[in-house]
This record gives sequence, C-alpha cells and structure tokens, in this order.
Amino acid sequence: MPRYFCQNNPDQLELEVQVLDARPGAVLLGQSPFFPGGGGQLADRGVIEWSSGVLPVERIEPDPRGLWHVLTEPVIVQGSVLAKVDPEFRHLMCELHTMAHVLNSIVYRDFGGALLTGAQLAADGTFRVDFDMPGVYPDWLRALDAPLNDVIRQDLPIRTFDMPWIEAEAEAGLFRSKSVSPPQQEDGSVRIVEITGLDRQACGGTHLTSTGQARPVRILKVDNKGKQNRRIRVGFVS
Ligand SMILES: [Zn+2]
Repeated sequence: MPRYFCQNNPDQLELEVQVLDARPGAVLLGQSPFFPGGGGQLADRGVIEWSSGVLPVERIEPDPRGLWHVLTEPVIVQGSVLAKVDPEFRHLMCELHTMAHVLNSIVYRDFGGALLTGAQLAADGTFRVDFDMPGVYPDWLRALDAPLNDVIRQDLPIRTFDMPWIEAEAEAGLFRSKSVSPPQQEDGSVRIVEITGLDRQACGGTHLTSTGQARPVRILKVDNKGKQNRRIRVGFVS
C-alpha cells in the first residue's frame, strides 16, 4: 500500500497539487491531504478548489497512482487544484480513533488479550468496537468508563513510527484485529501507533497527538453479538 500524505503530515490539511488525471466529476491527485477511509475510519471530508470553482469531495477512491477525489458535480477539472480537508471532521475522526485505541488497549490488557473483530467510527461522534471475548459479562464492559476517562486525564503522548513487518509480526499484541492485518507499506514496513506507557499497535489511520485532547467519553451500549462477540458503543459526554 502506498503511504498516505496525511500519515506523515497529519497537520497539513491543505495542499496545492497538479491534477494527474481527470474524468467528469473526479480528479486524480498523486499527493493529497485527504485520508481515504479504511480500518473503520471514515474518509475525510473537504473541498477541491480550482481556478474557476470549488466543489465538495463526495468520496475518495484509491488508485495505484494516488487518490481519486469524486466531486458532487460532473465537471472536468485540470491544472492545479487546492485540496482542502475539513478540519473539524478530521479532528472528530482523530478523537474517535484515538479513543478506540484506548478502549482496545484496556480490553486487551484486562480481558485476557481479547482481539478486535470489527471497528467503525461514525460521523455522529460515536464509535463501536467488537471484540471476541466469550465469557465476559456486559456489566464488566459497562464499567470501562472510568479507565477510559482516566487515560484522557493522564494526557499520554501519542506517536507513530514504522517497523519492519517481520519484527512487528513477532511482537505480541501489535496486530489486534482477529481477521485483518493492517496493510504492509511498499517498503515492507508497517506503521505503528504508540500511546506512551499504554499501548502500541499497527494502524494506518489518523489520531490525536495526546490523549488529553479527547473529550470525556462514556459507554453508550454493550451488546452480545453472537456467542463470542461483544459490541461496545462509545460516545462523548458532551
Ligand atoms: Zn489507529
């Protein structure tokens, strides 16, 4: 998988770039600040601005050459464009994604290495995470409010770095999903996200730079989804 611009430049939300290819209502950009979606994180929202117009990006389609930005009208855009990511929506995704890691790490630590079977962030400011953990009662999981908010209070720094895939595979706990491994980068490495003192795991998404930037959260719901699967839904208190 190619490295996304946003992974190395998470704070740069605007980028002026030449259109590589175009079709009615879509432009292909070789470099783009947009996160294309994946791993349960929604694609960034934002706009494409060019010399004679501006249109919202409806969705992103990955291509070996870059990212197609599908626009809301069938225009043909060529030349240079300014790709602009919506900062509020990006921040919300970073906040939800970071708290999904925190939840995931607490569950992994406290419930015998329970692995993820699914995760989805939502535009309404909630997320859900599914875990494979038979024999765990929903009430135990409803009590996770306190440790989650404790991690926010501790304001732990978060950093990302690359690790050779083979090394990452050999380290217990870096690959948390039961069924899906995060994609290997073109250079044979995998991206690791570390919450200092709490957790590290392979991930390709966008995150906060410290846990204290997240608002307090609460567990909204815990469901049994099948014999083994527990689904936890989390939202912000305010
Ligand atoms: Zn992540």
